[in-house]
Amino acid sequence: MRRSRKSDGQGHVLALSGGVGGAKLAAGLAAVLAPERLTIIVNTGDDFEHLGLTICPDIDSVVYALAGLNDTARGWGVADESWHALGMLGRLGEADWFQLGDRDLAMHIARSWRMREGESLSAVTARLSAGLGIAHRVAPMSDDALRTMIETDAGWMEFQRWFVGERCAPAVRGIKFEGEAGMSPALAQALARDDLAVVVVCPSNPYLSVDPILAVAGVRAALGDVNVPRVAVSPLIGGKAVKGPLGALLADLAGGADNAAIARHYGGLIDHLVIDRSDDAGAEGLHAQGLCVTVTDTLMRGVEDQARLARAVLGAVKVEADL
Ligand code: GDP
Repeated sequence: MRRSRKSDGQGHVLALSGGVGGAKLAAGLAAVLAPERLTIIVNTGDDFEHLGLTICPDIDSVVYALAGLNDTARGWGVADESWHALGMLGRLGEADWFQLGDRDLAMHIARSWRMREGESLSAVTARLSAGLGIAHRVAPMSDDALRTMIETDAGWMEFQRWFVGERCAPAVRGIKFEGEAGMSPALAQALARDDLAVVVVCPSNPYLSVDPILAVAGVRAALGDVNVPRVAVSPLIGGKAVKGPLGALLADLAGGADNAAIARHYGGLIDHLVIDRSDDAGAEGLHAQGLCVTVTDTLMRGVEDQARLARAVLGAVKVEADL
């Protein structure tokens, strides 16, 4: 039974995000919604321990994007980055396969230090995002570890080994999430709000960024139960991923890269798919899959595009923006 909500178009927005692609829309939503109207929940399946540090790549992508610190040219990490620490680590004979910039390193040191002192990932994420001047709520999907594992012909490996160490080259045979994770307080609270107006699935990688969130205990059931629109923005433009391994994953795991495959992947968990104009031809098929479809420009080149797409997504489900 999907619960009924009282929403007058002014309700709360729950956004589910991965890293770089999701962060762009999350930043757009933050640009057009007052802080009390938005909760951004971020994938932590990619998190890992490296050099004694707790690294949360997707949380950091979202935090850097909301703080306006992200490197838009490189597409990840912090702008004006330097790499002295990484160079020194290499000279010391320590692992330097994972790119850690000096500024970025400060984030990992602060997070690891606070967590070692007993703070939860939720608390430390709130602390560090506030430190960077972010007013909106950014929170992990869970305070428990849930680790994305990738199966290739060489067997199972940790996500970052495949993603960064192997540059996504080995074909993926399977994906699993190890561990048992419960919802973070922010996620549980957002899903239970009486004024929840919409769940937005950001244009993140469905397999690597959204599925881990859906694997958190209770999330699938809660999304099945919410009586509000659940709208996803497709990460495909012209049938291709803007960046990253999604195209190859869809070919390996879904047999083809198009929005019909994205819709099938999300199954009954979404009601509405926002697709790019270049993929307009597939809209009819998506309707036949039972989805509402909004066609618009979904490429986000900068902050104006992010805010425009955020307004379009909210407008598609009759939720008002504040700005
Ligand atoms: P990651 O965790 O850093 O890989 O980031 P996400 O999973 O959040 O995002 C990766 C996906 O974002 C890729 O599949 C891209 O196709 C998609 N993406 C990146 N930029 C854009 C954009 O401007 N528009 C859309 N529609 N998708 C984008």
